[in-house]
Amino acid sequence: MLATLVNGLVTAYRVQREALIEHALLSNSAYAAKLASSIEEFIRGAQSHLQFSAERLGSHWGSAEIMHAETLRLQQQDADFNAIIIVDATSKVLDVFPDTLQMNGSTLGSEAVNQALAARQPYVSSAYMSAAGNRVVFVAVPVFDAAHRFVGIVGGSIYLQQESALHTLISQHFYHEGTFAFVADRDRQLLYHPDSARIGEKLGYSKTVDAALLGRSGSMAVRNYKGIPMLAGYAQVSGAGWAVVAQQPQDASLAPLSTLMRDMVMGMVPAAIIGIILIGAGALMISRPLRELSRIAGQLAAPQTTEDLRRVNAWYREAAAIRQAMLAGVQLLQAKMGRLNRQALTDPLTGLANRRAMDDELQGLRTAGRNYSVLSVDIDHFKRVNDTFGHDKGDLAIRQVAQTLMEHCRAADLACRAGGEEFLLILPDAGTDVANLIAERVREAVANSEIPIVGRITVSIGVASCDDATMACETVLKRADECLYRAKETGRNRVECFVGVTT
Ligand code: GH3
Ligand code: MG
Ligand code: MG
Repeated sequence: MLATLVNGLVTAYRVQREALIEHALLSNSAYAAKLASSIEEFIRGAQSHLQFSAERLGSHWGSAEIMHAETLRLQQQDADFNAIIIVDATSKVLDVFPDTLQMNGSTLGSEAVNQALAARQPYVSSAYMSAAGNRVVFVAVPVFDAAHRFVGIVGGSIYLQQESALHTLISQHFYHEGTFAFVADRDRQLLYHPDSARIGEKLGYSKTVDAALLGRSGSMAVRNYKGIPMLAGYAQVSGAGWAVVAQQPQDASLAPLSTLMRDMVMGMVPAAIIGIILIGAGALMISRPLRELSRIAGQLAAPQTTEDLRRVNAWYREAAAIRQAMLAGVQLLQAKMGRLNRQALTDPLTGLANRRAMDDELQGLRTAGRNYSVLSVDIDHFKRVNDTFGHDKGDLAIRQVAQTLMEHCRAADLACRAGGEEFLLILPDAGTDVANLIAERVREAVANSEIPIVGRITVSIGVASCDDATMACETVLKRADECLYRAKETGRNRVECFVGVTT
């Protein structure tokens, strides 16, 4: 979601940026074209005013009165020109206004005038320094007399740096977001620049000016002479061949971008936060049962696993299926473990506890510091039973004795098969007297019971007690065994009780 959000913002940024640049290039291009056509119109207007005078002068060529009247009229009628001059074909000044330098009657060597005379058609000069010290452009039209002979020119100069109609025309435009325009002539001299100190400066290499001077119009992203990226539009003033460039710093045209992006971020952030919270909550809800299941999976053998698994809120199908599979697995595992546990502690022939279970029981009693008695039971002449009736009947006899032992046990007692035809009976909390009594009952019960085919058998029993918590189990068992041997030695089918012989 964050990646999508960031991607959206980055894309929006790029698109907006391109749109702003595109828009700035388009508007600067349109602006340059408009300015170029305004200047062209201005020059054409100025030339048509001069043309009107030239026709009048031509038909009255030589009349000083009419010449003076025309220079006055041209200068005063409209504000196109700062100065008016009439020159004959030999560069002689016939009339000038204002005549501040008293040039009337003199011969001019000005290059602009010479070029205008040579051209014999409407002429617009490049920028130059006039004799009076003003930076000007000179606009002139040829004069032909009644016989259509070229007799001279009438022209006007337009100040570039001071107040003039052209200056006003160019400078009175709508400045927007740092946009400004400059005009350069064919010689790449600045005719107009907002920084008036630069007027007259000869420009270095400039892609936009070069393109406009070649008569092209359009727009491009460029770097200005200070290396600042600019978005520029350019066009040519076709009559004069001047270049008009309208440009603005790229940064200025991209200024709205930060506001746009801020608005966009502000618009997206609340929804994004809600989205992230929802996704986060959803992810948490989905992962919670999995997390709990994985925690439980780490402790499958724990006794409360089944309970824990039942408590997991597996609210969707997949989690429920995993939980179900884990429950089945755990139940299977526990059943198997229980069975193995029981098998590990049980004698398979008799179903009595085995030696391992007996050791555990004795250790438990010892740890708990409880008193107990032990009966060591051994079937008498069992070899004979086997020899006479076969091993199977021997097993039957063993099972029968085991049955009798169990019948004489309390719930807390433990009967176990110690091996072969030997048994142990552990009686917790029983003293020697009680143990003796039970031993006697067992002996009697075995002796009195009839085993199919085998008939009657007997057992001998040794009894020992532990009435001291510090006594080792092995000592008690050893004493019981000693008593058993004694019972065997003294005739079998007997109970012998330990009476305090040191071992
Ligand atoms: P005693 O009166 O001195 O105890 O004589 P006994 O013959 O019982 O003595 P012994 O310990 O020498 O013989 C035990 C016999 O028990 C030996 C063995 O063949 C038999 N036996 C041991 N384990 C089993 C069993 O699991 N099944 C059967 N059928 N016989 C077993
Ligand atoms: Mg034996
Ligand atoms: Mg025996």
